[in-house]
Amino acid sequence: MNTALRQYLSRRNYEQGTQPSGARHRASNEPLRFVVQKHATRRAHYDLHLEVGGEFKSWAIPRGPSSDPEDTRLALKSKDHSLEYGEFEGSVPDGECGAGDVIVWDTGVYSPDGDGNFFFGDREEAEMRVEQALADGRLSLFFWGYKLAGSWMLELREGSEREWLLVKREDVFAEPARDLLGEERSVLSGRTLEDLRDEATDVEARRRRA
Ligand code: MN
Repeated sequence: MNTALRQYLSRRNYEQGTQPSGARHRASNEPLRFVVQKHATRRAHYDLHLEVGGEFKSWAIPRGPSSDPEDTRLALKSKDHSLEYGEFEGSVPDGECGAGDVIVWDTGVYSPDGDGNFFFGDREEAEMRVEQALADGRLSLFFWGYKLAGSWMLELREGSEREWLLVKREDVFAEPARDLLGEERSVLSGRTLEDLRDEATDVEARRRRA
């Protein structure tokens, strides 16, 4: 495990006392969380993580989300992630799974909204509905994040097992003209991926001089 990630996890454990991570969320009635990481691998992409059942269900979105309802984006189902990993920001070293710099591009809470009802205040019902919708290959969900907001559709492409499509649904939060991906800074630290890379370069330069 890389140093930044280990530090992050130990800090979390400290903040949460001796509770096993994840337990806090299952025990509470807080809304379900989502995270979108921007991930600089050989091909930079966005990773969407939806909290359900004590972990993150995850999709890689090569071109990133769009707030234009006319603009459907491919979302490739990836492996599930632990809640810790999905919130991570920093550098994953070469040779490790997911190597490359990562920022938390957006985060917030979400609720299934398929029948026009929200379940921000009922975690159990929300999780049940999300699990069922994912099994059915069609999840309508409402994001309440720093950048993503309103109703979105995540739908399994017909005949595919891995290819989903993410599209903004028509509502007051749809903004066809908005340059969503131009809002490139981490919502946690204000850093861009370039900032992260420059910091890593500085650390390396200092190490060489030492
Ligand atoms: Mn990724």
